[in-house]
Amino acid sequence: MKQITYVSTRGGGEEVTASRAILNGIAADGGLYVPTELPKPNWDFDVLKEMDYRELAYTVIKEFLTDYTEEELRACINAAYDKKFDTPEIAPLVKSGDFRYLELYHGATAAFKDMALSLLPHLLVTAAKKNRIKEKIVILTATSGDTGKAALAGFADVPGTGIVVFYPKYGVSKIQERQMVTQTGKNVCVAGITGNFDDAQTGVKKIFTDPAMLEKLKKNGYRFSSANSINIGRLVPQVAYYVWAYCRLLKEGSIKKGEEINFAVPTGNFGNILAGFYAKQLGLPVHKFICASNDNRVLTDFFETGEYNKNRKFILTESPSMDILVSSNLERLIYHIAGGDAARNAELMKDLSNKGAYTITDVMKLGLSDFWAGAASTEEMRGAINSVFKAGHYCMDTHTGVACAVAEKYVEETGDPHVCVVVSTASPYKFTASVLKAIGEDAEDDDDFALADRLEKIIGVKQPATVTTARKSPVLHDTVCETEDMPKVVEHFLGL
Ligand SMILES: *Cc1c(COP(=O)(O)O)cnc(C)c1O
Repeated sequence: MKQITYVSTRGGGEEVTASRAILNGIAADGGLYVPTELPKPNWDFDVLKEMDYRELAYTVIKEFLTDYTEEELRACINAAYDKKFDTPEIAPLVKSGDFRYLELYHGATAAFKDMALSLLPHLLVTAAKKNRIKEKIVILTATSGDTGKAALAGFADVPGTGIVVFYPKYGVSKIQERQMVTQTGKNVCVAGITGNFDDAQTGVKKIFTDPAMLEKLKKNGYRFSSANSINIGRLVPQVAYYVWAYCRLLKEGSIKKGEEINFAVPTGNFGNILAGFYAKQLGLPVHKFICASNDNRVLTDFFETGEYNKNRKFILTESPSMDILVSSNLERLIYHIAGGDAARNAELMKDLSNKGAYTITDVMKLGLSDFWAGAASTEEMRGAINSVFKAGHYCMDTHTGVACAVAEKYVEETGDPHVCVVVSTASPYKFTASVLKAIGEDAEDDDDFALADRLEKIIGVKQPATVTTARKSPVLHDTVCETEDMPKVVEHFLGL
């Protein structure tokens, strides 16, 4: 089998194996790891459609992680996709109205981040063993709400690791915060910051590449890695569920073999949708990826004009996990549409950090044809949740609501008849007040957990265990810091 290796999108540093790329998290020059070439597996979907989730995940993931043995990879996958998920299907595909919904929120923390973060700790620990890493691995994570809890759940008490999570104190839902601050485990640290998610992400990237910090770390027997979607080990597991969704449609006879479908993806850091793009490169028949944004429409504007411009107001919305102005994984797409020209990409990223903006060339714009982008306002998101609920008694969360509203716009504008899968990224129980409001219920009650009980009565779907657990567990973390004090929190936690 062909070995796939990884390089930085900015051209610096060396070419590394998959396990090294996962260990490093981010390349030394601040770029993101990308495969030097994309695998071409020549899939037979009639075979794939008979596989269960684990088998299919193995089939897809092995294409990327070629330096893991079959035994290693299967052990990781089997440990990840197990009883932590509340359904043996792992990722059910549900039909309601005009669209299908790929429910990626059946894992431990009720958000799609579990799809990758159930697997990443295993991949990482295996990578450390394979590469004879002696240091303890410290996972440094910025979260817009869901990554934090999913990473904490994945890494809590995993021997040889520690984890630090920074979240925007005033930018996550109450249930999201409660899930994080009640996290148990001897190796975990959770801190709110007074800044927004972009501040958290920038702060983390800075700590990662600060030579003085790295020196101190090394002296004390630690090394950093990342659980954010900048880590290729987060991205690769996500490719699998696009193939899975396609196979479900094929198996139920809703599409013919080879027929193209569309995916609508609620997008923030561009990791989820980029995994879909990779699935297409590997041979999945996809017509369009509908890139859905909320009022922070930096990506919508980029796809429309070719200019990425983060110089705008950061808006706190009811889909907080998409409140992002610096969409990290877009860098990987930029690299690919530049034909793998790392120097060109590095130039654009320099513009982004110096001027807050960059513009791609007309030739590069042609590479965006797999995507269609749109944004939905809070009103439009609520309208989508409400109409789907009223029509078919199917309740989605606010992020999925944004994607659904944008998918409706897409169909209206283009008349495209392809089957459309809306990627459903969170349980409605993580955003109870917003969801209740959307379906026309009064949500003035302060207590989000009381609201969860109300929602349960109305929609008739059981609350996920993570919500009931968060409710009765004591708060264990109450650190709040200024953005510039993030390094101090890390040093204090590690005793540097
Ligand atoms: C993280 C997240 C998103 C955005 O996904 P990206 O990979 O960052 O684009 C959307 N919805 C929910 C619920 C999320 O947690």
